[in-house]
Amino acid sequence: MKLYEFQAKEIFRASNIPCPKEKLVSSVEEGKSSVSEIGFPSVLKAQVLVGGRGKAGGIKILEKEEDFLPTLESIFSLRIKDLPVEKVLISEKVEIERELYLSIILDRRLAQPIILASPFGGMDIEEIAKEKPKSIIKESINPLLGLLPYQCRRIGFQLFPKEEKLLDKFASLLMSLTKVFFRYDAQLVEINPLVINKNGEFFALDAKMILDDNASFRHPEWAEYKTFEEETEAEAKKEGLSYVRLSGEIGSIVNGAGLAMATLDLINRYGAQAANFLDIGGSSSPEKTKKALEIITRDKNVRVILLNIFGGITRCDDVAKGILAFLKEREINLPIVARLVGTNYEEAKTLLKEIPIIFTDTMKEAVKKASELVKGS
Ligand code: GDP
Ligand code: MN
Repeated sequence: MKLYEFQAKEIFRASNIPCPKEKLVSSVEEGKSSVSEIGFPSVLKAQVLVGGRGKAGGIKILEKEEDFLPTLESIFSLRIKDLPVEKVLISEKVEIERELYLSIILDRRLAQPIILASPFGGMDIEEIAKEKPKSIIKESINPLLGLLPYQCRRIGFQLFPKEEKLLDKFASLLMSLTKVFFRYDAQLVEINPLVINKNGEFFALDAKMILDDNASFRHPEWAEYKTFEEETEAEAKKEGLSYVRLSGEIGSIVNGAGLAMATLDLINRYGAQAANFLDIGGSSSPEKTKKALEIITRDKNVRVILLNIFGGITRCDDVAKGILAFLKEREINLPIVARLVGTNYEEAKTLLKEIPIIFTDTMKEAVKKASELVKGS
């Protein structure tokens, strides 16, 4: 689960990682009444769970008060990578002397968390890896020993070789970040940029955290972080469905994770985008298919429904009964394309003959048809 910048910074502050003074607002009105709290110059930052906010106009530096309201209004009216801006962080502007990159991520190959640092902050790590690959410093953390002080110094010496006075502050910041990583069961904590100001003080100017969903059972407090999407994903899980929302327009229902992945690949091949990954699993009951349809049609981006079912343990007639049960309760205006093969396929076809479904014999035809419908409509 990804956290918003403001949520990650709340955790950072509580863990002695210095962050600029900030105020979160949920509307222009709220911004008006909070304008004096941070003062000027300040920075307005759109809170969305995707990167590249700066380029999309989601980060604006304000030098004077006159610019505040128009800029805040313009940020609230943005859509960044198709996401609306519901919250904006008003942040004290820091005078940047230097921008660094610092993160801790789980290295699955080493089976250990690994620290990544670079003196070229501000760019994405992918960009740094491409343009300044030699600048990336790596240091793994032994989970039994924890991060050791010499490791902090080793990273510090490479980041700022001639400034020993920064070492102690950096070491304590890195120790705190490591504590955050373990205590919050994170998969990633990232500060980009980590800045140093003229007085040699560090600030986390940006903050990213991804929590490990496998640990959510021991964190009841994570409930407050859940977005609408994550709640839907959790609801799907309870019903035995694996659902992940994506950003395209073809709502897909597939049985088996492998077939679902292959379906998504084929959708891409035909130049369209899937709205979701949804695996109804084996031995699907009509209820599961019905629930799957309910879940995928909540997404307003969905313009075509695609069912790709390879009937083995899953019986095609159960899937058909699920479709009928769903359509009995809900009237939808979306075309449905179905490729149902295998166990009880004939029964399924008979059950569905009254409703306007586009049947195909192969997966390729089904995906092609669904993609054409999206592109044509
Ligand atoms: P991102 O584009 O979503 O990663 O957003 P960031 O929070 O990392 O901000 C992007 C860039 O905006 C930073 O690398 C800085 O160069 C600039 N920026 C953000 N906050 C401040 C600030 O307080 N002072 C100054 N001078 N620049 C800032
Ligand atoms: Mn950033």
